[in-house]
Amino acid sequence: MADRDIVRANLKSAIGLAAEYLRGQVSLSEWLVGQGGDGPLPSFDGRVTEDDFINGTGPKDKQPVGILSAGQFKAALPATEDYDNVRADLVGRLKDAFLTFVSSRRGQASRNAARKAIAEDVPAAFYAGYADAGGEDTEDDDERWLTAEQARQLDFLVDAFQALADDRDNETAKESAIDDRIEIWAATLDAIYAQGKLRGAANKMLTWQLGQTEKHCSTCSKLDGQRHGAKWWLAHDYIPREPGSDTLECGGWNCDCRLEYDNGDEFTVSG
Ligand SMILES: [Zn+2]
Repeated sequence: MADRDIVRANLKSAIGLAAEYLRGQVSLSEWLVGQGGDGPLPSFDGRVTEDDFINGTGPKDKQPVGILSAGQFKAALPATEDYDNVRADLVGRLKDAFLTFVSSRRGQASRNAARKAIAEDVPAAFYAGYADAGGEDTEDDDERWLTAEQARQLDFLVDAFQALADDRDNETAKESAIDDRIEIWAATLDAIYAQGKLRGAANKMLTWQLGQTEKHCSTCSKLDGQRHGAKWWLAHDYIPREPGSDTLECGGWNCDCRLEYDNGDEFTVSG
């Protein structure tokens, strides 16, 4: 196989497998195995339904979520926090809000506190995963997924508070039940972190390195040292050493450039 085909195939398999997972065609564990399987596994790879939140039950069916599309514009990743801290933060803040809610009449303050915790920790978990997988620039599609997920979690909160209000009014509220409920939120946050990780891995940062060729074409010279997510390179069709390239001024015939991971490993598999 020519270099161009190998690089394209690599980029596409990284992105394509992620897209398959997102369409629900492969499980998260299958996907992680396909990616070398490193990193912490989430506690489950299904989705939590609205009923689960209301009833305090576990995940049931895996539901497909959004579909990746390459070539969107990128956004820089906000500063990320360690995921364990994000998870602990959410657990602590929800517990505080839920306990205050069932033991007092200060309903609105508790709701607001819980909403703020979800609104902050859902993106923090997603971006932590994205960064842990080596991604830095999120795509439009990543941001859309995150925004939708954040809204979904905030919706669940409405129902959770309704259930808590019933418990409070019936004097059946129990701390252990609240802990169980919060465990589900934490497990969901694990899945959001995993989703970020998946999307970050599909968009690892790659840097263009000039090769040994004596004269470099204007395109390669311009690209030298540029660092972008894998999807950016694919979307722009900047494939090093692509013979007959439409995007490299030299046509790629004498090009000896490469795309490298941050650790210096070449992205291309020599074949
Ligand atoms: Zn070149």
